Amino acid sequence: MHASKVVVIGSGVAGLSIATRLAVKGYKVDVFEKNSYPGGKLSAFENDGFHFDSGPSLFTQPQNIEELFALANEPIGNYFAYQPVDVACKYFFENGKQVNAYTNPQLFAQEMKEQLNENPQSILNYLTQSEKLYDNTGRIFLDHSLHKIKTWFKGPGKALSTIKFRHLFQSLHQYNCSHFTSPEAIQLFNRFATYNGSSPYKAPAILSVIPHLELNQGTYYPKGGMISITNALLELAKNKGVQFHFDSLVQRIIHHEGKARGIVVNDENILADIVISNSDVYFTYKNLLHNATKAKKILRQERSSSAVIFYWGIKKQFDQLGLHNIFFSKDYKKEFDCIFNKKELSNDPTVYINITAKMEKSQSPPGTENWFLMVNASADSGQDWTAIKQQLREDVLNKLSRILGEDVQALIQTEQTSDPIVIQEQTNSFRGSLYGSSSNSRLAAFLRHPNFTSSIKDLYFCGGSVHPGGGIPLCLKSAKIVSELIAAANKKATH
Ligand code: FAD
Repeated sequence: MHASKVVVIGSGVAGLSIATRLAVKGYKVDVFEKNSYPGGKLSAFENDGFHFDSGPSLFTQPQNIEELFALANEPIGNYFAYQPVDVACKYFFENGKQVNAYTNPQLFAQEMKEQLNENPQSILNYLTQSEKLYDNTGRIFLDHSLHKIKTWFKGPGKALSTIKFRHLFQSLHQYNCSHFTSPEAIQLFNRFATYNGSSPYKAPAILSVIPHLELNQGTYYPKGGMISITNALLELAKNKGVQFHFDSLVQRIIHHEGKARGIVVNDENILADIVISNSDVYFTYKNLLHNATKAKKILRQERSSSAVIFYWGIKKQFDQLGLHNIFFSKDYKKEFDCIFNKKELSNDPTVYINITAKMEKSQSPPGTENWFLMVNASADSGQDWTAIKQQLREDVLNKLSRILGEDVQALIQTEQTSDPIVIQEQTNSFRGSLYGSSSNSRLAAFLRHPNFTSSIKDLYFCGGSVHPGGGIPLCLKSAKIVSELIAAANKKATH
């Protein structure tokens, strides 16, 4: 017999996913969310007829969502539709060069030859190696708990034989320099370190696994924007019997004699057999378990980057832009030095613009575009974000107006902004980091907090601040790992 009552703290993608996974196994699941809406970082808002996804904009590995619907025995098509995107990103370099990163490797290699004179075979070899790394190491490092001995009997030999000395002891930048000749190709492939909030000059070359997910497996666009992912997961969970409690800040996790017993919400004790925290692991220890020592230990790992975001309704359409666009800085190294060492923003930042109106006209009023404009920033450490945003706005407008040949400021119809402090307030993500801890060290993957704690039985952790890390695909994987850990604990208890 398994335990019957589960409480989940938070309704981020991982919280929604673990709720469904356990509900379909017969558990009675209640989710408590401090906000009035679900999704955490994966939420959205409307401003004057413009739709804006607040956080994530890049959707990869839809198979993680497909798998959840299959498990729940529900046709995904009744909840969620998505389509492949041909160009993963349009890159604009400061020297005027432009590259379309096609999700077809052959086309992409050809484009790199035409625009950057890069050897197409170097691109294809890199992507093949990236795929091999993913196939052989993903099973060990991403799909299972790294902190259970059983994982290490699942065939680490193949994984470890694929990982070369250089994957751990070279930085991603050094690795890329040994593969490509043009500075633009190196910068393009360096950018993948930012997909988990890290610096290519510090993070190990094992992050060269990431291009496989975007350029071989492809990127996708969810109909209705990214918020459709949250909406679909919420509907699925509700249909499987999960109860949701919004505007319900969890104040404390109750534990006694080394076992989780429930939570405190609105000063009321809610008892449960299993407690799962989808809240940031630092806040879970500090605020919900009042364990300052453990919280401090978590801080030994550097936080991932955060972001400053401008949500602009633009009263014009730009034919030269696509769904995802990058306007690179001239000096990439200086930019990361500013983010991770000086904790400030470079005056020539790389600018990312996501425009969902390129895929669906209904995302913004006729003749306009919804610009989600993001610049990577350091996690909050007390900077004056109002002043930083003001300066950044000016720098970004100058850069874009110069490159696009338009006075962009004059085209802004609606505006809203976000920064590390707003992100922390909205999602309880410590210091507003987007992906929990960074991968700026060789051992980062092993130092990330496990999905359980050996000091409190029946307490589990899922989401971007714990193993296997941040980003939608990994958060969904963390939920799967937790459900497997619970099944294993249950099996052990019945033997
Ligand atoms: P979170 O989204 O962190 O949500 C946690 C939830 O728990 C929140 O709703 C919070 O309110 C709730 N909560 C916390 N504490 C309590 C409490 N005490 N009581 C009750 N509720 C509580 N990923 C990608 O894959 N692609 C991208 O393009 C991408 N871009 C990003 C851009 C931005 C600006 C941001 C912010 C993130 C981006 N990410 C991206 C990362 C991705 O959004 C996250 O990794 C993922 O959504 C985190 O999900 P999660 O399950 O960890 O929960």
